[in-house]
Amino acid sequence: MTDTSTMTRKMPAEGAMRRALADRDPRSDGLFVYGVITTGVYCRPSCPSRSAKPENIRFFPDPAAAESAGLRECKRCRPRASHDRVSRVIETVAQYIEQHASERLTLGDLAKRAHLSPAHLQRRFKAVLGVSPKMYHDAARLRRLKSGLKAGKSIVDAIAEAGFESTSRVYSHAPRSLGMTPSAYRRGGAGETIAYAARDTAMGPLLMAATDRGVYVGDRRLIDRKGTLSECRRREDRQERGDWSETSSHRNSRGR
Ligand SMILES: [Zn+2]
Repeated sequence: MTDTSTMTRKMPAEGAMRRALADRDPRSDGLFVYGVITTGVYCRPSCPSRSAKPENIRFFPDPAAAESAGLRECKRCRPRASHDRVSRVIETVAQYIEQHASERLTLGDLAKRAHLSPAHLQRRFKAVLGVSPKMYHDAARLRRLKSGLKAGKSIVDAIAEAGFESTSRVYSHAPRSLGMTPSAYRRGGAGETIAYAARDTAMGPLLMAATDRGVYVGDRRLIDRKGTLSECRRREDRQERGDWSETSSHRNSRGR
């Protein structure tokens, strides 16, 4: 189970956060919260309450982080509500990308759907999911390519159905992203020597497996003791439908 409550949100740079507070900028609501250690209260950036001394201010990526530091929610600005709203919007955009992964998606189109400016969508998407919409889209296409290959589709079909523009493009990128050529991936990595490592990232636990052709990045839960990609693939099969639906159902179950 991916526990999104422990996912690291990305905060803007401190200078940008201080400016947002000075401006009481509502466009920064949902990107971070700030707490005042002398009052024990945390607020959204646009809170109209009296400004605190800079040395008493602490920044947090989200309400949960502020609360685990012992602060309580401001009754005036209700920062939880703005965070939940931003998360819902970004989840909707991410689901749209997932469902339309094989199509050409532009930041401008996605921003229109979210009723945000492209710059704000970019910033909020990164704040919530830790990656840009473009990287998320690339990952979604790659998942489609992988499931097509695993389903035994021809390489040309799998590439086309995943929405990659040309076969040659995938071949030049696949060694990096699949960790091997599509045909080797299709065979389950047979004949490839795979080294792997795992670490925690903003996206959750990640597995990085390297062959002499490149690097495969995936879910750490797919590690097996022998370190073979075919075993990784079997586990991936079981968890396939997983990542996104698990993540969103978990999020939805958090008390709102
Ligand atoms: Zn407040």
